[in-house]
Amino acid sequence: MTKTRILVLGASGQIGTELTQKLRLLYGNTQVIASDIRNGSDEMMASGPFEIIDATDKATILKVVQKYKVTQVYLLAAMLSATAEKHPQQAWNLNMNSLLAVLDLAKEKHIKQIYWPSSIAVFGPTTPKVNTPQKTVMEPTTVYGISKVSGEFWCNYYYEKYGVDVRSLRYPGIISWKTKPGGGTTDYAVDIFFKALENKKYECFLSENTRLPMMYMDDAVNATIELMKADPDAIKIRNGYNLAAMDFTPKEIALEIQKYIPEFEITYQPDFRQKIADSWPSSIDDSDARKDWNWQHNYDLESMTKVIIQQIKKL
Ligand code: NAD
Repeated sequence: MTKTRILVLGASGQIGTELTQKLRLLYGNTQVIASDIRNGSDEMMASGPFEIIDATDKATILKVVQKYKVTQVYLLAAMLSATAEKHPQQAWNLNMNSLLAVLDLAKEKHIKQIYWPSSIAVFGPTTPKVNTPQKTVMEPTTVYGISKVSGEFWCNYYYEKYGVDVRSLRYPGIISWKTKPGGGTTDYAVDIFFKALENKKYECFLSENTRLPMMYMDDAVNATIELMKADPDAIKIRNGYNLAAMDFTPKEIALEIQKYIPEFEITYQPDFRQKIADSWPSSIDDSDARKDWNWQHNYDLESMTKVIIQQIKKL
């Protein structure tokens, strides 16, 4: 059997930083090649191979795939929801061309398996908002959502037509403390912890009762690795699995933080991101992921808040 060797594209971002290190722990440092258009964390740069790669440049990806005998690609390079609204054409080019480059490399048998994250942004204002089902209306109104829903269709197409083993999750907002997020609509749920500890106050760019699906980074990383390890026959959905852990509003996370920092104050000044948030579901039904490959989350709002506050205090 060929040894698993992994290339992570967009490894220096919020998810890549933690996913790459977890993959290195599992498969061995030299088995996991990190890459991005900018350097990653000191830990990532020191612990294993790193290459500068533009994820839309198929020829360079192929060179690196051949150099290291890569078997799996995790494609994390993308422009996220809030930034994409400011640069729609660039977002489309990056999000689509990188995916098509990697799908083609698998179709041409240079790689065996692909991971590509989708998002709850595939849904739109016409989607049922509460407990959003796996199969439902998908009419996104953001350029990011349009790129994710199109990407899902491409993944399914390459699976059906060429047998490409591509797997995908519709991540909710991912909350971490190691790396700052890269321009999404759920970023407030990361910033709020840093501001609460630094200044005891936070001005939120979403309104107090905006409920969104969220997940702690450790759960997102575990879900990704579990999905990629699952038996191919268990994977019944090739566009993107709904994935959930918790959902909350800015007011609810502020109340949770106040248990540790009673003087913490939150104010609300909704900006353009409110409209994006309003178009997304407030909670997600992920029963297919739980049934097909035994997905289980570990963190809820209470346990996540406790861990993040402990960790940021140590920084
Ligand atoms: P991020 O913005 O933190 O990181 C993206 C990385 O891609 C950055 O390090 C950036 O330098 C790199 N990049 C940009 N252009 C590139 C290019 N041309 N070539 C190579 N690298 C390039 O994003 P993230 O939060 O880590 O997201 C990773 C993936 O997960 C994305 O597909 C995103 O859409 C998806 N996702 C994230 C969230 C979330 O809450 N973070 C939620 C849903 C889906």
